[in-house]
Parts: sequence; C-alpha cells; structure tokens
Amino acid sequence: MSSTTSEKPVAIVTGGSRGIGLEIARELVQTLGMRVVVVDIVESQINELADSFGPGAENIDGRVMDVTDSEGLTKLVDDVAEQYGRLDVMVNNAGITRDGLLLRMSDEDWQTVINVNLSSAFYGTRAAAKHMVRQRGGSIINISSFAGVEGNRGQANYSSSKAGLIGLTKTTAKELSSKNVRCNAIAPGFIQTDMTDALPQKAKDMALEFIPLKRMGQAQDIAYAVAFLASDRAAYMTGQVLCVDGGMHM
Ligand code: NAD
Repeated sequence: MSSTTSEKPVAIVTGGSRGIGLEIARELVQTLGMRVVVVDIVESQINELADSFGPGAENIDGRVMDVTDSEGLTKLVDDVAEQYGRLDVMVNNAGITRDGLLLRMSDEDWQTVINVNLSSAFYGTRAAAKHMVRQRGGSIINISSFAGVEGNRGQANYSSSKAGLIGLTKTTAKELSSKNVRCNAIAPGFIQTDMTDALPQKAKDMALEFIPLKRMGQAQDIAYAVAFLASDRAAYMTGQVLCVDGGMHM
C-alpha cells in the first residue's frame, strides 16, 4: 500500500452512506476540503455513494464494514492512516435503534444496540487515537443523542448506549488532551432521516410539541456542528456535549 501523505486532511465517518453520516461526509469534503473515508455495513449504499454525493465525490472513499467487528475496524483505521499518511478526524456516527419497553426488552435487543452504538465507537476511537497521538493532533466526534442526555421511554438500550458515548467522550478527552487530540460529542434531537421516518406519525407529532423551535432538525444541522468541532475553530473545545436539538435540552 502506498503511503504518500495526503495534502488534504483525512477523516473517517462511520455509518456515512446515508442520513446524518452522509451529510457529515458532504460537509467535511465540500466545506473543509477533506478526504473522507465512509464506512458502512450496507454495500449497495456504499456503491451508490459516488453517484449521489455531488461536488467533491472524488474525495470520498467508501468501505463496506460492520463497525461491531473490532479487529476489522481497527485494521481499516490503520490501513487508512497508512494509505493517506495521516488521520485527522474520526466521526463515530453509525447507530441503530431496537426500541421496546424495559420490561419486555430482550437481551439480544439490548446487546445489539450497545455493540453497534457504543462498542464500535470505542473500537474506532482506540484505533484512531493511536495515529492521532503519534501525529500530535486530531479530533474525534461521537454522535450521541438527546436520549443519552435525558433518557427516553422505550429506549433503555439506545439511551444507555448514547449516555455511554458521553462517558467515552469525556474520558477520551481527559486522556488525550495533552497530546492535542480533542474529543467531543454531539447530541442531536429529533432529526429527519430514515431512522425517524420509521416512527409512527403520532410519535412524531408528540415530539414536535417538545421542540421549542417547532420543527424537526435536518441532517445538515448536525453536519454543520460536526464540521465546526472537526475544524481548528473548535481548537479550544474538548470533552463537550453539543446539543443540536431545537432547544429541547435547556
Ligand atoms: P440512519 O439509520 O439513516 O443511518 C445510520 C447509518 O449507520 C446507516 O447508513 C446504516 O447502514 C449504518 N450502520 C448501521 N449499523 C451499522 C454497522 N453495524 N456497521 C456499519 N454501519 C452501520 O440513521 P441517522 O438518523 O442518520 O443516524 C445517524 C446517527 O445519529 C446514529 O448514531 C443515531 O443514533 C444518531 N441520532 C439520530 C437522531 C435522529 O433523530 N435521526 C437523533 C439522535 C441521534
């Protein structure tokens, strides 16, 4: 594998072939001029990326991977750092829901959500941090959730995974700040994507009542915040949870 250092900063975005992750990848490429490796489990979405991406598609590099595969994800991160000679930004975005009330939640639904949403971010962070520490700089961004900050009925597994991401974020920030590696989390509120499209209309109407700005967020709203945290404009921020939720958490 060639190891010429990329002139462009290099980012990895997990779960980046649709929804919030795709907008994050777009923003990092189109606004911050980065080269972005998009990791996703759905092969067809990765294959369609180049066609649907728009300007800057040549700076996208899609890889099919299940982020719960610790060894696989670690190797992928190492390969990216070697291939491009650097790794500047790691966005742990891949996430799923398996909702159900606590009393009826199966072990499998608990464990699957913890593995995809939380364990994967640990694997990604540990792998990326090794390279960032060596190059004395980097930004790790974990996509948490309003549910991780506040808890949410029917989401014991999801809210625990997202609260866990906040603990991971703060610990990573504390351990790596002396090496100029920053780590922050974003807690999106109710964002219009396939994940929320799957909810019943009644649940959506109810959610709107609790959003002070009276609208669902768009994936771009989250991508703008990620681009800020990824950039030097946030050079003095680490260990923070940025709530991008229309004012729900205040
Ligand atoms: P989405 O379902 O549209 O996208 C999630 C992406 O992750 C998909 O492309 C999916 O294929 C990928 N993915 C799932 N499991 C994976 C795995 N094991 N390995 C690799 N990729 C995998 O969801 P979204 O709304 O864009 O959510 C993105 C992130 O934002 C998630 O972590 C989600 O929990 C978080 N979030 C979303 C909302 C919201 O309202 N949409 C709110 C708060 C937080």
